[in-house]
Amino acid sequence: MIKANNITKVFGESTVLQQITTTIKQGEVVTIIGPSGSGKSTFLRCLNLLEDPTEGQIFLHDQEITLPKTNKLVIRKNIGMVFQHFHLFPHMTVLDNVSYAPQKVKGVSKQEAEKTAKQLLTKVGLTDKEDTYPNRLSGGQKQRVAIARALAMEPSIMLFDEPTSALDPEMVKEVLDVIKDLAQTGMTMVIVTHEMNFAKEVADRVLFLDNGRLVEEAEPTRFFEQPTSERARDFLDKVL
Ligand code: ADP
Ligand code: MG
Repeated sequence: MIKANNITKVFGESTVLQQITTTIKQGEVVTIIGPSGSGKSTFLRCLNLLEDPTEGQIFLHDQEITLPKTNKLVIRKNIGMVFQHFHLFPHMTVLDNVSYAPQKVKGVSKQEAEKTAKQLLTKVGLTDKEDTYPNRLSGGQKQRVAIARALAMEPSIMLFDEPTSALDPEMVKEVLDVIKDLAQTGMTMVIVTHEMNFAKEVADRVLFLDNGRLVEEAEPTRFFEQPTSERARDFLDKVL
């Protein structure tokens, strides 16, 4: 589905990603964990070309997308992204937040876009919030709207960058449950998270990043029970 080949990213003097290579298969759920500043967000942003890798290639469905001729808008239509801080449109209702991009970017009719948006809002448990503005929602509700909004574009892969890190603890579960449901439907997902139990439960594979390097890549039981690198062991000692 998506392949990163030797991705290096340099900002000024600092190399924040060093030769990262990994392949994410269709239907696979991959979680990325690692210390703050290890390059997790930058790696996700390289996958959907919000950042241009300094070196290396990204392939989406076997097509290289890190070419100068690539239309980045087409790529981002195909890759949904959910951020820590929701990024909803504050002046639009929940329904408009979810139905706007398909109309604007994909030329879907208003009627069709709203019908799909309503179905997605039901899926994330927000049927009754259609006409509400984001400032009237809790953090967990906002994040569920953001997920519905990303899904409305019918992406072939979803990227999540710490989707629960800005939430009060009691709202974490409602968001993780929505992501778990998506995993059940076979959605291909890459999720940066600090929720270790969630990573263990939902992931097919865990990537551990440290200092811009992909230090370990393993099936979750193996990773959490027998991390092979000292850096992963140190990290897990601190967070578990
Ligand atoms: P993480 O998500 O794992 O916390 P990031 O990918 O956000 O890590 O950041 C990795 C490193 O890259 C950090 O040292 C950060 O300061 C640096 N960095 C991220 N974005 C930029 C940028 N636009 N310009 C310069 N440095 C950046
Ligand atoms: Mg980050």
